[in-house]
Amino acid sequence: MNVEQTAYATGVSLQQARELIIAVAAEHRLPTEIVALETALHRVLAADMHAPFDVPGFANSAMDGFALRGADLPQSGECALQLIGQIFAGGDNAPLVGVGECVRITTGAPLPHGADSVVIKESVRVDGDRIWINAGEKPGANTRPAGEDYRGGDLALRAGTLLSAAQLGTLASFGCDTIAVTRRIRAVLLTTGDELVPAGVPLGFGQIHDSNRFSLGGLLRTFGVELVRHEHLRDDPALLRTALLRAARDADIVLSSGGVSAGEADYLPSLLAEIGHIHLWKVRIKPGMPFLFGRIGEALVFSLPGNPVSGIATFLSLVRPALDTMLGINTSARKTWRARLPSAIQKRHSRSEFLRATLTCDENGTLWVTPLVKQGSAMLRGVSDADVLLIVPEDKHELAQGSVVEFLPLPGLA
Ligand code: AMP
Ligand code: MG
Repeated sequence: MNVEQTAYATGVSLQQARELIIAVAAEHRLPTEIVALETALHRVLAADMHAPFDVPGFANSAMDGFALRGADLPQSGECALQLIGQIFAGGDNAPLVGVGECVRITTGAPLPHGADSVVIKESVRVDGDRIWINAGEKPGANTRPAGEDYRGGDLALRAGTLLSAAQLGTLASFGCDTIAVTRRIRAVLLTTGDELVPAGVPLGFGQIHDSNRFSLGGLLRTFGVELVRHEHLRDDPALLRTALLRAARDADIVLSSGGVSAGEADYLPSLLAEIGHIHLWKVRIKPGMPFLFGRIGEALVFSLPGNPVSGIATFLSLVRPALDTMLGINTSARKTWRARLPSAIQKRHSRSEFLRATLTCDENGTLWVTPLVKQGSAMLRGVSDADVLLIVPEDKHELAQGSVVEFLPLPGLA
């Protein structure tokens, strides 16, 4: 089949490409599954989570010290209180605290009836079964009321939350040991090219090591995608055809690299048109212009250009939004990152450009984003040494020193 005969979007802007990809990916939302909380880190919460009860469930002490009645605290000078017992975290048999009395208490122990304040142990002098307290202590201090963290019924986490370590802690504090999350995306990664040799195998003349296997495979893993398998394929249309069909049967997404431009051995566009459907080919970006997106059966196919930097830039700018959408991730809270340029930038073309750049914060708290010198799309060093991809919008040909630009953080920037 001739690629020219099929209808698909082409030559669109970065923003238009993203919108199209997100619209298609929305039709490929993944089902939910129940998993053990232990395995839920970086999974996507499938439903809103409300606190099932007050957390903490009971008023307790925030410090190690003495529980007492705030009304007994001295206004001036010092006073003595009678020590009538003790309660430790996990204990449940504290005596009632009456006027002029106190109970030794540890952090997390339930506040005894009658007590409403805790004075820390470092601030009192113990003298047998009495303690001495100086003026200046605050009634109600060092206590944690029931429901201080979450009130029963509070909306605690929204559906679409990418679960962090702290959020797993929240779910555990609600007593959840299992949780409904979106199923992980399954991907097959295909790297194509006659010149590619696996890392570990010596290079012949004209050969290079298959680095995309690791940079793209690493990005898939970074974003929680399950890599079903990787295959390296020669630039042979029959082999590619079989591999694409098999990959589409085994995975939710097929990610390929290489063979999407207009070279003699660039078979991906015509193959995708033949055995599937092209949604989009060629985006007004640099690097990564020949990016190809479509589907084979139920699988979404992302064919990235072979140049290592193009692959990473198109993954972060165009594949990631699809992953977010398929997983139902709520991206509304995601930050748009901006920083200032320490020197002017000129751009001659009318495409959006991703420049590899480092990020620094000066003593005034201003963030600066500085493009690296090596910007070739085949130069992995550019991305290896970078913190971010700085985005020069397609309609900007001149950016003055000090102007504010957007950037995409590279994974690992923290
Ligand atoms: P292509 O998109 O197939 O025209 O490849 C563009 C450039 O990227 C060529 O210089 C390829 O040798 C290089 N390239 C393609 N695939 C890979 C890969 N998996 N790892 C490293 N470089 C690659
Ligand atoms: Mg190639």
